[in-house]
Amino acid sequence: MSILSIVATPIGNLEDISLRALRVLREADLILCEDTRTTQHLLQHYQIRTKTISYHKYSQDSKLEKIIKLLRSGQNLALVSDAGTPAVSDPGSWLVSRVRQEFGSQLVIESIPGPAALTTALAIAGTGFDSFLFLGFLPHKKGRQTKLKDIFDSKYPVILYESKHRLLKLLEELQLLSVNLSSPLELRIARELTKLHESFYQGEINDLLKQLSENANNLKGEFVVLIKKLNK
Ligand code: SAM
Repeated sequence: MSILSIVATPIGNLEDISLRALRVLREADLILCEDTRTTQHLLQHYQIRTKTISYHKYSQDSKLEKIIKLLRSGQNLALVSDAGTPAVSDPGSWLVSRVRQEFGSQLVIESIPGPAALTTALAIAGTGFDSFLFLGFLPHKKGRQTKLKDIFDSKYPVILYESKHRLLKLLEELQLLSVNLSSPLELRIARELTKLHESFYQGEINDLLKQLSENANNLKGEFVVLIKKLNK
């Protein structure tokens, strides 16, 4: 019986990978990668020579059919994303559903756990996040205002992913809504987790916005944004 392994990989520091993940990547017949060049960096570091092919959100149906065929022929496949856990704001869940639908119990889909920016940020966030609403990336255009509103309506703190291109815009939008809705916010922002410039910011939205925009370097990198309403 074939195995499809969904393998978590580092979100920055290459040492953050489990022994099991390394073994599975080494023993797989093929690794499906969001971007084969990104994954090669990891594979070369650990001298893993398994063949790779790309599988990402723009992959055609024909690629999926090829993957199904490989599994049917008894190949063991591993799926990785560029960083962290596949399916957490990354491609993966669609493939899992399709493979499960195709094979049912005739094929094992296993999860090889490891880093995710969400849990890595939570580990250093401090108290108040026992329950939370994770929204991943906000939509860029359609539906964005509704999701922003959801943050203020939520009875739980909200956690978002954001890139360097949009962090400032997000903070400005949150500040505006915070004023309009008279709902003060406290933010915690984890930046460049596990990397050289890892940093953590905490404070009221106005102070954080000021602090971050004072130095352009603070706005570089990848971010997890944790949002708490102060009147809750
Ligand atoms: N699958 C990944 C995971 O398990 O967390 C998430 C991939 S998603 C495409 C990329 C986003 O995750 C980034 O824009 C950022 O919000 C967050 N992220 C990934 N790596 C990060 C890091 N080292 N530090 C902070 N945030 C990170």
